[in-house]
Amino acid sequence: MDSESRLHTLLAGAEIEAAVSRLAEEVTRDYQDKRPILIGILKGVFVFMADLVRQLDFPLEVEFVRLSSYGSGRQTSGRVEVVQGLSCPVKERHVLVVEDIVDTGITVAFLIDYLRNEEPASLKLCTLMDKPSRRRVPVTIDYTGFTVPDKFLVGYGLDCDEQYRNLPDISFLED
Ligand code: 5GP
Ligand code: MG
Repeated sequence: MDSESRLHTLLAGAEIEAAVSRLAEEVTRDYQDKRPILIGILKGVFVFMADLVRQLDFPLEVEFVRLSSYGSGRQTSGRVEVVQGLSCPVKERHVLVVEDIVDTGITVAFLIDYLRNEEPASLKLCTLMDKPSRRRVPVTIDYTGFTVPDKFLVGYGLDCDEQYRNLPDISFLED
């Protein structure tokens, strides 16, 4: 991946900002007196999480897990590897999982199953993007920023071989 001329903008920074504000309003309405733990799935979520939590003006905690279902490149391996697990108890806590994009659903379904066994007080999922055309495992999404087409997206935290995470827009790579 050499030149940015192969990138086509799908969601511009301003559109993303508006969606994050809307999601923040929804999350605020539901969690403002619950002191939730927001659990982000690294690495892709780091930009979205940073923007989202700065619009949440109530007590909350932020945790991250690092899961990997992709090898390098664009293909999911179908197997989830826990690169860095959860370091705090979630029993009887209100847990909101935060994801950048739900694609096959394999990654987030794995985390939700794991968390459910830990008996949180509640467990919901917020994703910036949903790519429903590729779903292989059913997933209930409680808060969705955008429904996106079946294209490989980069920017705003999402990578291709670790490149493009820093771009403010979300773009797709020309095949
Ligand atoms: P799933 O397990 O749902 O197939 O994939 C979830 C993870 O794969 C996401 O958290 C994200 O890190 C990565 N992923 C899924 N779709 C895309 C995409 O279009 N672009 C990039 N860069 N990563 C994706
Ligand atoms: Mg991710």
